[in-house]
Amino acid sequence: MNETVYTPTSSFAEELAAIPGGEAVNKCIQCGICTASCAVARYSDEYRPRQLIQKILLGEREEVLKSTLPWLCMTCRLCEERCQEGVSPAEIFHAVRILAAREGHVPQSFRHVVSALIRDGWLLNDSYTDFEEDDREDLGLNTELGWNNEFLKRIKKLIPLEESE
Ligand code: SF4
Ligand code: SF4
Repeated sequence: MNETVYTPTSSFAEELAAIPGGEAVNKCIQCGICTASCAVARYSDEYRPRQLIQKILLGEREEVLKSTLPWLCMTCRLCEERCQEGVSPAEIFHAVRILAAREGHVPQSFRHVVSALIRDGWLLNDSYTDFEEDDREDLGLNTELGWNNEFLKRIKKLIPLEESE
């Protein structure tokens, strides 16, 4: 049986294809089903999964890595369900974010969220009540919620957090 061979169309696409999640980027035929399916695209005039993949295939490395758009994907995977070519834009944008984070391009809003999470343990600190602890105790779960320090070290290395943290 003949197997189709996909050739990377840009060095950036080749670079992403070597990162977990980015392998299928060169299979994209630019049909646009992902954009037509995407809930984020419905509410944003700028976020277009097909167009972002096109920029990758064209080798627009700096533009894509410095953009906040790949960080808008909420990983609902509807595009992945519908793509006839077996491409997952969600996974591709995950690979883009890995590369962008390595090069220091993490959007400020994302850094803020991670800082708050590390500082408070969650994002809704003010809504924390004794109920949660009681529930955890009732369920036989540990009520002393400690952090995985090794995980924290890795996050802090990857994402420069806010000064006050
Ligand atoms: S990722 Fe799939 S659905 Fe989206 S443009 Fe490419 S081939 Fe079409
Ligand atoms: S996974 Fe991301 S790109 Fe795909 S439909 Fe959901 S939000 Fe849009």
